[in-house]
Amino acid sequence: MPFHRSPLRTLTALGAALFTTLAGAQGWPSKPITLVVPFAAGGPTDVVARLLGGAMTTSLKQTVVIENKTGAGGTIAAGAVARAAPDGYTFLIHHNGMGTAPSLYRKLTYNPLTDFEYVTQVVDVPMTLLGRKDLPAKDFKELLAYLKANAAKVNLAHAGLGAVSHLCGMLFRQAIGVELTTVPYQGTGPAMNALLAGQVDLLCDQTTQTTQHIKAGSVKLYGVTTLQRLKTLPDAPTLAEQGLPGFQVVVWHGIYAPKGTPKEALDKFGAAIKAALKDPAVGPKLAELGAITVSDDKLTPAGLQTWLQAETQRYAPVIKAAGQFAD
Ligand code: ASP
Repeated sequence: MPFHRSPLRTLTALGAALFTTLAGAQGWPSKPITLVVPFAAGGPTDVVARLLGGAMTTSLKQTVVIENKTGAGGTIAAGAVARAAPDGYTFLIHHNGMGTAPSLYRKLTYNPLTDFEYVTQVVDVPMTLLGRKDLPAKDFKELLAYLKANAAKVNLAHAGLGAVSHLCGMLFRQAIGVELTTVPYQGTGPAMNALLAGQVDLLCDQTTQTTQHIKAGSVKLYGVTTLQRLKTLPDAPTLAEQGLPGFQVVVWHGIYAPKGTPKEALDKFGAAIKAALKDPAVGPKLAELGAITVSDDKLTPAGLQTWLQAETQRYAPVIKAAGQFAD
């Protein structure tokens, strides 16, 4: 028997179609947006994401949900976002790891240069070399002597191959010529907890997490990883000025979306990030934690894309030369 739609069913179907069209016309965002953080909650990348996400939830009138997707130095999260639906509701915040992973991982499940849409860079963040509070070395000079004498028993925490804490630790290890045992965590949030509990000896991490612990005196600070001293920690000497000339690791952050994400979502998410950086509840807080807002040309999709390309090329020979990076 042929199927005949009743007039009521036809009206209901028409109504549903009309509703869908209207909802679409209302534009993006019409539901919560996920911002994926590739490391554990409480760490420095997470701190930046949550500060931004809070302000963006207000300006976009939709919740920006922070999802911590940990593992393999940030590559699990980047791979998941590369494969997520490009519907404008999944974004990724990541750091230098986007540029180092292709050289560090033989089997990467995504290509940072072709599998993403680029939204914007965000902030640059310096790092600090820290020791547990009761480490016998009271300054950098004593630390070097201590490490040389105790290399076998000293360990350094990090957030996995591809994490900046690992990169910084390896560069430090290389610069002083001492082999240290490394201990991986799912992010430097848990690595910091281990340092505070005295379970590990050293950690190199962003000021967006470490500033509070340095100011509270709950860790030992041996130096900062910028060439100039920081305004936020003016008494802290740089590693460069303490005998490691040129030692510099600055963490840059970018916002990405799966390839094919609608332009409207990319543009509006980017605009909301920029507004969040200027928000009086966010900008000054980030600055207090040592973060530096990048110049306007970097606060663009092209600014991020060009930077990532350059960083990917810059790291490739460095990582190749330092075979121990793939440990
Ligand atoms: N600081 C971390 C890193 O070493 C990641 C984090 O937990 O934010 O890459």
